Amino acid sequence: MGSKQQLNILVVDDDQFMRDVVATMISDNGHLPLVADGYQQALAALSKNKIDLILMDIEMPEVNGFALTSMIREIYNHWIPIIFLSSNDSEEYLSKGIDAGGDDYLTKPVKEVILKAKIRAMARIASMQDELELLNRKLSILSNIDPLTGVMNKRALHNCLNEQWSINRRQKSELSILMVDIDFFKLYNDNYGHQKGDRCLVRFTKVLVSLLNRETDYIARYGGEEFLILLPFTPLEGARFKAKEIMNALEKFAIKHGHSSIAPYVTASIGISSTKLNAKNTDELVNQADIALYKAKESGRKQSYIFKSA
Ligand code: GH3
Ligand code: MG
Ligand code: MG
Ligand code: MG
Repeated sequence: MGSKQQLNILVVDDDQFMRDVVATMISDNGHLPLVADGYQQALAALSKNKIDLILMDIEMPEVNGFALTSMIREIYNHWIPIIFLSSNDSEEYLSKGIDAGGDDYLTKPVKEVILKAKIRAMARIASMQDELELLNRKLSILSNIDPLTGVMNKRALHNCLNEQWSINRRQKSELSILMVDIDFFKLYNDNYGHQKGDRCLVRFTKVLVSLLNRETDYIARYGGEEFLILLPFTPLEGARFKAKEIMNALEKFAIKHGHSSIAPYVTASIGISSTKLNAKNTDELVNQADIALYKAKESGRKQSYIFKSA
C-alpha cells in the first residue's frame, strides 16, 4: 500500500515562532506547509485547499484547538487526520484532545524525528481511507446496477422513482411509467437454454435503451424478464407513443423466437400508468402498471394497455 508523496499539512498556531518552526520541519521533509493563526484562517484554508493533515495548537484566543477540532469534525464528513501539538503534557489534555476528535497528541517542543514519523503514519492511514472511499463509491455504483444488462436494478429504481415522484409533484407535471414484460420468455429459455436466454435479455435491453432519448428517462430491470421505464414530464399519450415505438423497434430488430405463438421474433407486452390516474404513492403507481400489463397479456400479448381504475 503506497502512501501519498507530498501532503498538504495545515499548521494552526497563534504563535508565529511555533508556526515557522513546524512549517520548516514540514517542508524539510518534502511536504507542503500551510499556516493559520487561528480558527478563521484555519477554516478558510480548509475550504480553499485539500488538506491531508492538521497540526493543531490547543491554547489559542477566541476558539481553542479542542473547539476548533470539534468544529472541523462537524463541518467535514470526510476524515482529516488531526494531531494536537501542545506545550501542555497533562493526561487530561491528551484525553480531551482525543474526545474532541483528534487522532494523536504531541507535546512541544516537538522533535523532528517524531513529527516525521507521525506524519508518515497519518499519511498511511489517510491513503487507506482514500482507497476505502473509492471502493465504497465503486460498490455503491455496482450495487445499483443489474450485472447482466447494465441498467439500474430494482433497488436503484426504488430510489429513482421516489425522487422523480417528488420532482413531478413539485412541478405539477406528469410522470408515466411502462412495465415491459417479454412474451413467452419461459419457452425461449426452455428451447434455447438459459445462456441464450441471458443473451436475449441483453439484446432486448439494448433495444429499449436505444429508444430512451431524453436525459430524464430511466430504465430498470424490475425482475427476470420485466423492465420498468420511467418517463418524467410525460403525459399518458407520450407513454402510449413510447410503447408503440418499443413494439416497432422489436419488430425491426427481430430477435428470433421460434417458439412464440404470436410472432417469429421476441415481442413484449406493456402496462402503462401515470400520475394522472390518481395513484397515492409510487407503490400504487407501479401496481397499476402491473395490473395493466396483466390486461395486455390477457388480451393476447404483443400490445400495450393503459391502466383503468375499476
Ligand atoms: P408471459 O408471456 O406470460 O410473460 O410468459 P413468460 O414465459 O414470459 O413468463 P413467465 O413468468 O412464465 O416466465 C418468465 C421466464 O423468464 C422464467 C424464466 O425462464 C425466465 N427468466 C427469468 N429471469 C431470467 C434470467 O435472468 N435469465 C434467463 N435466461 N431467463 C430468465
Ligand atoms: Mg497557542
Ligand atoms: Mg414474460
Ligand atoms: Mg414476467
